[in-house]
Amino acid sequence: MTQSTLPILQNYINGQWCYSSAGEYLDVVNPATAEILAKVPLSTAEELNRAAEAAQTAFSTWRRTPATQRVQYLFRLKMLMEDQFEELANIITIECGKTLDESRGEMRRAIENVEIACGIPMMMQGTNLEDIASGIDEFMIRQPLGVAAVIAPFNFPGMIPFWFMPYALACGNTYIVKPSEKVPLTMQLVFQLIDRLGLPPGVINLVNGAKETVDAILDHPAIRAISFVGSTPVARYIYSRAAANGKRVQCQGGAKNPVIVLPDADLEMTTRITADSAFGCAGQRCLAASIAITVGEARQTYTEAIAEAATSRVVGYGLEPSVQMGPVITPQSRQRIEQLIQQGAESGATVLVDGRSPNIPGYDQGNFLRPTILQNVDPASEIAKTEIFGPVLSLIHLDTIDDAIALVNSGQYGNMACLFTNSGAAARKFRYEAEAGNIGINIGVAAPMAFFPFSGWKESFFGDLHGQGQHAVEFFTQTKVVVERWSQKDWSRRF
Ligand code: NAD
Repeated sequence: MTQSTLPILQNYINGQWCYSSAGEYLDVVNPATAEILAKVPLSTAEELNRAAEAAQTAFSTWRRTPATQRVQYLFRLKMLMEDQFEELANIITIECGKTLDESRGEMRRAIENVEIACGIPMMMQGTNLEDIASGIDEFMIRQPLGVAAVIAPFNFPGMIPFWFMPYALACGNTYIVKPSEKVPLTMQLVFQLIDRLGLPPGVINLVNGAKETVDAILDHPAIRAISFVGSTPVARYIYSRAAANGKRVQCQGGAKNPVIVLPDADLEMTTRITADSAFGCAGQRCLAASIAITVGEARQTYTEAIAEAATSRVVGYGLEPSVQMGPVITPQSRQRIEQLIQQGAESGATVLVDGRSPNIPGYDQGNFLRPTILQNVDPASEIAKTEIFGPVLSLIHLDTIDDAIALVNSGQYGNMACLFTNSGAAARKFRYEAEAGNIGINIGVAAPMAFFPFSGWKESFFGDLHGQGQHAVEFFTQTKVVVERWSQKDWSRRF
């Protein structure tokens, strides 16, 4: 495809598709083939302001639309997403690189969030108590906040906006989505579906862009709540700037997820599951296993088995059915991961399985790595602490479960921690003591279903209320307490 025929992506503001007036565009690139797919505008602050104003205007009627009617739009959106399920999964694979099955799994979880948000008439209910004093009643109601926005990362272009957006709309807020500039195509298709819903203009808006667009979101006075998912340094920045502007903020950051393997674990299951956790989505999941801590005799058996699993994983273009792992997102990302592997080797680790410079026939322009395993990683080394965000698993050996849990808890992040064992007592100890927001017991990617909140601890999360489920309902509403008394005298005079 030549540059001149490339599609230029549009924003969706106030119910209309519109070209950006941005002077700057980025290429959207297929990470497996290096084909340039489209050009995405880096929208200006003025364009973001227009979306915020449209959303603010729409809010006054949208909040008055009964919740039972608001969710009818979500029921229709679910049906449209089901109809376009394969197209959505295809686009995710084309722009993000993951396998088609991984993309399908992502869209399934997105749809699940729409389904859960359809229960808002129940989930948004308040509480009440009659006769807090004689003839006086008190009740708490939930009301929407106003305009809210999500700033999304590249690794789940279809799912992550849905951790927030369906709940925000169902609760009566209006909304702005800012996708990752690396993977903006999936939201283009989602918004084509949204455009068919017949929502009042301005209720939901799409603004493409990068830092300038984000800063305009952080500073716009009409935007009352911001959900961010991305790396920890940006999460910290967004949390502090938006909070200083008086906004409600939830920021999900990076991760370095450990899994512990005890000697009594089912070796076949543990290997299969941890390999999928470490190498699935090319290691670009915030819940990817990054460190495997073997305890005692698990060392030798697990090391041999995981090395075999890493070596035999089929790497290639995610649209091909036999492929089990796609590329990483950009050439810069691949280069960074290769440098980190080298740094690990220089700090004393053995590169047991080396996935650098792979030969993927037919895809020599793609950002491919093969699964990599570093053995004997020093827990104090940089490689044991830095988020790699690629298909690299570091092996650390310790003598006791107490040492392993202490290492888990010494990390700066707290997104996920998993234990593989057949011992209920060990599992309980781990569940009780491990410092992470998502715990897996014989589970490798402990991603909560849409009806549970999703978030990490420590530097993996800045804020209080999480995405998904009831937490999202609380995040997107503010409570109002009403204390009420009516004169009985008035009542008896009139009737
Ligand atoms: P990123 O932080 O680079 O970008 C995320 C978003 O922030 C994008 O929309 C981008 O446009 C914007 N952004 C980037 N730099 C900015 C800046 N300086 N100022 C303002 N906005 C900026 O993250 P990414 O590379 O797209 O995603 C990968 C990261 O996301 C990893 O660290 C991963 O662990 C994390 N992640 C976390 C979760 C979670 O639930 N905790 C889920 C998915 C991804």
